[in-house]
Amino acid sequence: MSFVEQVTNFLLAGDIPKAHALSEEYQKSKPVDPRRTSPFAINIPADQAIKSLQFVFKANPKKLSGLSNEDVKKLQLSVALQRLGFYGADLDYPLNDFAGLPPLKNQRLRILLSVNAKHLEDTQALKRMGIAKVQSFSSGVCCESCAKLADRQFNIEDAPEIPSPDCLELKSGTVCHGVLYKPVINFDDE
Ligand SMILES: [Zn+2]
Repeated sequence: MSFVEQVTNFLLAGDIPKAHALSEEYQKSKPVDPRRTSPFAINIPADQAIKSLQFVFKANPKKLSGLSNEDVKKLQLSVALQRLGFYGADLDYPLNDFAGLPPLKNQRLRILLSVNAKHLEDTQALKRMGIAKVQSFSSGVCCESCAKLADRQFNIEDAPEIPSPDCLELKSGTVCHGVLYKPVINFDDE
Protein backbone atom coordinates (compact mmCIF):
# COMPACT_ATOMS: atom_id res chain seq x y z
CA MET A 1 0.00 0.00 0.00
CA SER A 2 1.34 3.45 -0.88
CA PHE A 3 1.95 6.17 1.71
CA VAL A 4 -0.98 8.23 0.44
CA GLU A 5 -3.30 5.25 0.73
CA GLN A 6 -2.18 4.41 4.26
CA VAL A 7 -2.35 8.01 5.45
CA THR A 8 -5.82 8.42 3.91
CA ASN A 9 -6.99 5.28 5.72
CA PHE A 10 -5.82 6.68 9.05
CA LEU A 11 -7.57 9.98 8.31
CA LEU A 12 -10.77 8.12 7.40
CA ALA A 13 -10.54 6.25 10.69
CA GLY A 14 -10.18 9.60 12.50
CA ASP A 15 -6.66 8.77 13.67
CA ILE A 16 -4.95 12.08 12.89
CA PRO A 17 -1.86 11.45 15.09
CA LYS A 18 -1.06 8.23 13.18
CA ALA A 19 -1.69 9.95 9.84
CA HIS A 20 0.70 12.71 10.91
CA ALA A 21 3.41 10.31 12.08
CA LEU A 22 3.27 8.31 8.86
CA SER A 23 3.37 11.51 6.77
CA GLU A 24 6.65 12.44 8.45
CA GLU A 25 8.08 9.12 7.25
CA TYR A 26 6.74 9.87 3.77
CA GLN A 27 8.39 13.28 3.74
CA LYS A 28 11.72 11.80 4.78
CA SER A 29 11.43 9.27 1.95
CA LYS A 30 10.96 12.00 -0.68
CA PRO A 31 13.52 14.39 -2.06
CA VAL A 32 12.53 18.00 -1.35
CA ASP A 33 10.22 19.21 -4.07
CA PRO A 34 11.45 22.64 -5.22
CA ARG A 35 7.98 23.46 -6.56
CA ARG A 36 6.46 23.01 -3.17
CA THR A 37 5.39 26.37 -1.82
CA SER A 38 2.82 25.24 0.73
CA PRO A 39 3.30 27.09 4.04
CA PHE A 40 2.38 23.78 5.67
CA ALA A 41 5.52 22.17 4.30
CA ILE A 42 7.57 23.88 6.98
CA ASN A 43 7.99 22.03 10.21
CA ILE A 44 5.44 22.96 12.79
CA PRO A 45 5.23 21.05 16.07
CA ALA A 46 3.26 17.81 15.76
CA ASP A 47 0.65 18.72 18.38
CA GLN A 48 -0.06 22.03 16.62
CA ALA A 49 -0.29 20.34 13.21
CA ILE A 50 -2.67 17.71 14.58
CA LYS A 51 -4.86 20.35 16.21
CA SER A 52 -5.04 22.33 12.95
CA LEU A 53 -5.99 19.19 11.03
CA GLN A 54 -8.98 18.67 13.31
CA PHE A 55 -10.35 21.96 11.99
CA VAL A 56 -9.93 20.79 8.40
CA PHE A 57 -12.45 18.07 9.18
CA LYS A 58 -14.84 20.63 10.70
CA ALA A 59 -14.57 23.00 7.74
CA ASN A 60 -17.63 23.09 5.49
CA PRO A 61 -17.95 26.65 4.17
CA LYS A 62 -21.38 27.82 3.00
CA LYS A 63 -19.66 29.29 -0.05
CA LEU A 64 -19.12 25.67 -1.16
CA SER A 65 -22.69 24.58 -0.33
CA GLY A 66 -23.01 23.42 -3.96
CA LEU A 67 -20.82 20.43 -3.07
CA SER A 68 -22.50 17.21 -1.98
CA ASN A 69 -21.75 15.96 1.55
CA GLU A 70 -19.69 13.18 0.03
CA ASP A 71 -17.63 15.69 -1.95
CA VAL A 72 -17.04 17.84 1.14
CA LYS A 73 -15.58 14.80 2.92
CA LYS A 74 -13.35 14.02 -0.07
CA LEU A 75 -12.18 17.64 -0.21
CA GLN A 76 -11.40 17.63 3.53
CA LEU A 77 -9.22 14.56 3.00
CA SER A 78 -7.45 16.18 0.06
CA VAL A 79 -6.75 19.35 2.10
CA ALA A 80 -5.50 17.24 5.01
CA LEU A 81 -3.08 15.41 2.69
CA GLN A 82 -1.82 18.75 1.38
CA ARG A 83 -1.19 20.00 4.90
CA LEU A 84 0.64 16.77 5.63
CA GLY A 85 3.07 17.53 2.80
CA PHE A 86 1.58 15.50 -0.07
CA TYR A 87 1.37 17.19 -3.44
CA GLY A 88 0.67 16.63 -7.12
CA ALA A 89 -1.34 13.56 -8.10
CA ASP A 90 -1.41 12.31 -4.49
CA LEU A 91 -3.87 15.11 -3.65
CA ASP A 92 -6.34 13.64 -6.14
CA TYR A 93 -6.26 10.23 -4.46
CA PRO A 94 -9.34 10.94 -2.26
CA LEU A 95 -11.08 12.76 -5.12
CA ASN A 96 -12.40 9.69 -6.89
CA ASP A 97 -15.78 10.50 -8.54
CA PHE A 98 -15.47 14.06 -7.23
CA ALA A 99 -18.07 16.21 -9.00
CA GLY A 100 -16.39 19.45 -7.87
CA LEU A 101 -17.92 22.86 -8.26
CA PRO A 102 -17.35 24.41 -11.68
CA PRO A 103 -16.00 26.90 -12.61
CA LEU A 104 -13.63 26.50 -9.66
CA LYS A 105 -10.65 24.18 -10.01
CA ASN A 106 -9.99 21.55 -7.35
CA GLN A 107 -6.92 23.40 -6.08
CA ARG A 108 -9.05 26.52 -5.59
CA LEU A 109 -11.63 24.43 -3.69
CA ARG A 110 -8.83 23.11 -1.46
CA ILE A 111 -7.72 26.67 -0.71
CA LEU A 112 -11.26 27.80 0.14
CA LEU A 113 -11.84 24.89 2.50
CA SER A 114 -8.44 25.49 4.06
CA VAL A 115 -9.22 29.19 4.57
CA ASN A 116 -12.45 28.20 6.32
CA ALA A 117 -10.56 25.75 8.58
CA LYS A 118 -8.11 28.53 9.50
CA HIS A 119 -11.02 30.87 10.19
CA LEU A 120 -12.62 28.33 12.56
CA GLU A 121 -9.31 27.74 14.32
CA ASP A 122 -8.51 31.46 14.67
CA THR A 123 -12.02 32.28 15.90
CA GLN A 124 -11.79 29.64 18.61
CA ALA A 125 -8.37 30.94 19.69
CA LEU A 126 -9.59 34.56 19.82
CA LYS A 127 -12.64 33.59 21.87
CA ARG A 128 -10.41 31.74 24.32
CA MET A 129 -8.34 34.90 24.65
CA GLY A 130 -11.50 36.78 25.55
CA ILE A 131 -11.65 38.81 22.35
CA ALA A 132 -15.22 40.03 21.81
CA LYS A 133 -14.85 42.03 18.58
CA VAL A 134 -13.05 41.71 15.28
CA GLN A 135 -12.27 44.24 12.58
CA SER A 136 -12.51 43.17 8.94
CA PHE A 137 -10.05 44.24 6.30
CA SER A 138 -9.85 43.58 2.59
CA SER A 139 -7.31 41.10 1.27
CA GLY A 140 -6.91 43.49 -1.66
CA VAL A 141 -8.67 41.23 -4.19
CA CYS A 142 -12.37 41.36 -3.41
CA CYS A 143 -15.56 40.87 -5.39
CA GLU A 144 -18.26 43.53 -5.07
CA SER A 145 -20.04 41.62 -2.29
CA CYS A 146 -16.94 40.94 -0.18
CA ALA A 147 -15.72 44.54 -0.60
CA LYS A 148 -18.83 45.65 1.33
CA LEU A 149 -17.71 43.54 4.30
CA ALA A 150 -14.37 45.33 4.58
CA ASP A 151 -13.44 47.90 7.25
CA ARG A 152 -16.23 46.99 9.65
CA GLN A 153 -16.37 45.81 13.22
CA PHE A 154 -18.34 42.75 14.26
CA ASN A 155 -19.05 41.00 17.50
CA ILE A 156 -17.02 37.86 17.13
CA GLU A 157 -20.20 35.76 17.41
CA ASP A 158 -21.83 37.61 14.49
CA ALA A 159 -18.85 38.00 12.17
CA PRO A 160 -19.71 36.61 8.73
CA GLU A 161 -18.10 33.31 7.89
CA ILE A 162 -14.85 33.31 5.91
CA PRO A 163 -14.94 32.77 2.98
CA SER A 164 -18.15 34.80 2.73
CA PRO A 165 -21.25 32.80 1.74
CA ASP A 166 -22.30 35.79 -0.40
CA CYS A 167 -19.05 35.91 -2.35
CA LEU A 168 -19.59 36.22 -6.11
CA GLU A 169 -16.60 34.08 -7.12
CA LEU A 170 -18.70 31.08 -8.11
CA LYS A 171 -20.94 33.22 -10.32
CA SER A 172 -18.18 35.19 -11.97
CA GLY A 173 -15.39 32.60 -11.88
CA THR A 174 -13.05 35.44 -10.87
CA VAL A 175 -10.89 34.60 -7.86
CA CYS A 176 -11.87 36.60 -4.76
CA HIS A 177 -9.64 36.55 -1.69
CA GLY A 178 -12.34 38.20 0.43
CA VAL A 179 -11.87 39.83 3.80
CA LEU A 180 -9.92 38.75 6.87
CA TYR A 181 -10.36 39.65 10.51
CA LYS A 182 -8.06 41.05 13.12
CA PRO A 183 -8.91 41.23 16.81
CA VAL A 184 -10.11 44.49 18.31
CA ILE A 185 -8.27 45.02 21.56
CA ASN A 186 -9.97 47.74 23.54
CA PHE A 187 -7.79 48.97 26.36
CA ASP A 188 -10.53 51.34 27.58
CA ASP A 189 -12.70 48.42 28.66
CA GLU A 190 -10.99 47.97 31.98
ZN1 LIG B 1 -15.95 37.60 -2.77
